[in-house]
Amino acid sequence: MISVADLWIQLDALVPSPLPSERIPLASAQGRILRETILAPEDQPPFDRSAIDGYLVHTDQPAGLVTLEGTIHPGAPAPASAPSPGTAYRILTGSALPPEKAALIMQEDTKATDTGRVHLLQSPSTKHIRRRASQARAGDTLISPGQLLNAGALALLASVGATAPLVSRRARVAHLVTGGELVSPDATPASGQIRDSNSTLIAALLRDSHADLIWQQRVSDSRSATAEALAAALALQPDILLVSGGASVGDHDHTGALLADAGFTIHCDKVASRPGKPFIAASREGCLAFGLPGNPLSHFVCFHLFVRRVLARLAGTEPVALIRAKLAPRSELRPDPRETWWPALLTHDSVTALPWRDSSDLTVLARANALLRVPSTPSASSQVEVLCCS
Ligand code: AMP
Ligand code: MG
Repeated sequence: MISVADLWIQLDALVPSPLPSERIPLASAQGRILRETILAPEDQPPFDRSAIDGYLVHTDQPAGLVTLEGTIHPGAPAPASAPSPGTAYRILTGSALPPEKAALIMQEDTKATDTGRVHLLQSPSTKHIRRRASQARAGDTLISPGQLLNAGALALLASVGATAPLVSRRARVAHLVTGGELVSPDATPASGQIRDSNSTLIAALLRDSHADLIWQQRVSDSRSATAEALAAALALQPDILLVSGGASVGDHDHTGALLADAGFTIHCDKVASRPGKPFIAASREGCLAFGLPGNPLSHFVCFHLFVRRVLARLAGTEPVALIRAKLAPRSELRPDPRETWWPALLTHDSVTALPWRDSSDLTVLARANALLRVPSTPSASSQVEVLCCS
């Protein structure tokens, strides 16, 4: 049975390059991965400007009385030269300043007289001038490809007029949910039935994973119904096909066989992980397919370990890396011959293993924000590896 680490290597090889890029409006670009270099089109800031409300004077101006000549409002062009000694301009935060011989004094360090003159209580200085190009020069790289467009990155793009950034196309994902026992979450299950929670789980996980859910359907366990639904999903040419349930060897487990019938090469049908052992990874031209074990906790683990990794690579970004964290005291970890990915709560200074009964145990999922790696050979170290989850 393949190990998690070896399967990562195989999956990485299945995504040699990201999906094509597209230009989209800035307003829609949140959460996308940038695929171009953004250069500063001009110096940042583009002109010397004031960081304070106060007065602009000549650099030779000492403390004392000056005559007010007028106001430079933010947004107005900079005066060609600094005021002559003995005179001042009122300036506000953001006012453009002359390129030479400008000095500033804060309003708090002055006293206005009723004769239109201002008393400078201290010597003016240049320390409150935000200098042209002090943040970046025209042509400097502001953002590199691969950057996640978070709120800050979007603001930077806006500031330089990059209103149609080139970003990775989001992966198109089709999700087929199998299981004759499943009913919709808004239905009341009859005896022996359960509500389908994996559809909701996958839809939510995809939203944070550079992917769009383009199709989602539930089918019974009949092989022909499953084959028909699979064909309908593939007709949409998804980048990724997810099949929930039916990934193992039971009488109703058709996923592997149907994917093979549809021309997929099966790369693995089991992985040495707990939970999540029955896991199918398959590919054919332009599409990767994953058969996820139906148990909700297995679903969560397989998605974060494998599907999210592939989606990150398709988007042109690095998969979430394992981090090291201190295991909180009283975390009781059941050892197992398979590597365990334990639902856990990561806080700023440690990670706590959460109690879970088995792979169907949804109750732990609301609190889990991480998976803690418990190696198959027990370790006495208090440092553990953790995968942050969305
Ligand atoms: P399977 O992988 O199809 O053998 O399913 C394993 C277990 O997961 C069974 O107990 C199923 O009832 C349960 N299961 C399968 N699919 C879902 C789903 N969509 N939502 C909740 N539980 C599920
Ligand atoms: Mg099933």
